[in-house]
Amino acid sequence: MTPRLREAVGQGMTSQRVRDRLVERLRAGTDNSAGIRDENVLNAVRTVPRHLFIDEALATRAYEDTALPIGHSQTISQPWVVARMTEALLQNASPKKVLEIGTGSGYQAAILAALGLEVYTVERIGDLLRQARKRLRQLGMNVRSKHDDGRIGWPEHAPYDGIIVTAAAPALVSALVDQLAVGGRLVAPVGGASSQSLIKLTKREDGGVDEEVLAPVVFVPLLSGTLD
Ligand code: SAH
Repeated sequence: MTPRLREAVGQGMTSQRVRDRLVERLRAGTDNSAGIRDENVLNAVRTVPRHLFIDEALATRAYEDTALPIGHSQTISQPWVVARMTEALLQNASPKKVLEIGTGSGYQAAILAALGLEVYTVERIGDLLRQARKRLRQLGMNVRSKHDDGRIGWPEHAPYDGIIVTAAAPALVSALVDQLAVGGRLVAPVGGASSQSLIKLTKREDGGVDEEVLAPVVFVPLLSGTLD
């Protein structure tokens, strides 16, 4: 095994066995988080080495079901939240092209790519995006990414069958709803610093939208502009 492959597979607290245990916890759920049912999503969590998306000093905590710091006051989302958002995107639908706003560590994008989706992702912090690109490339994952304010979406590649927003805004961003295909879904946290809900919005054929509240969540805020 090459050192790179050994690192990717993981040992001890980052091993496949530890990742499998996380998958079983996600499947079982807890009192306040419903079990994840979609086997494809669970398989993606089983496959993608989350420990490679965080700082080495935190790697032993990579398979706890918790958000972790990734620098610049940002966090890699909690695995249950990543799984739930992905499951909502796929439920009774077969999306092909998806857009993520808030690349962060690149983990959510990697999960989407592992599911065979065509992934576009936008991040406003250049330093985080550079690190995420490097990880995704090293894992051989084909993800298209852009350094920009994601509140304008990525109109050149629209419409998208699915859009995932991984930072919270007080209201749904209309440019993103516009870039959704008919029958497409947008999954996003909506709310302020103290209280947010995960919303699933489906675009109907008549152009209207159906909205469903999935769960209470905690995300970093969706901010304007870009940073190097
Ligand atoms: N999906 C990420 C979660 C990262 S946290 C992961 O799997 O690791 C949310 C990210 O959204 C942060 O990196 C933050 O910089 C980014 N963000 C916040 N506002 C944004 C905006 N307007 N456009 C693009 N990215 C944004």
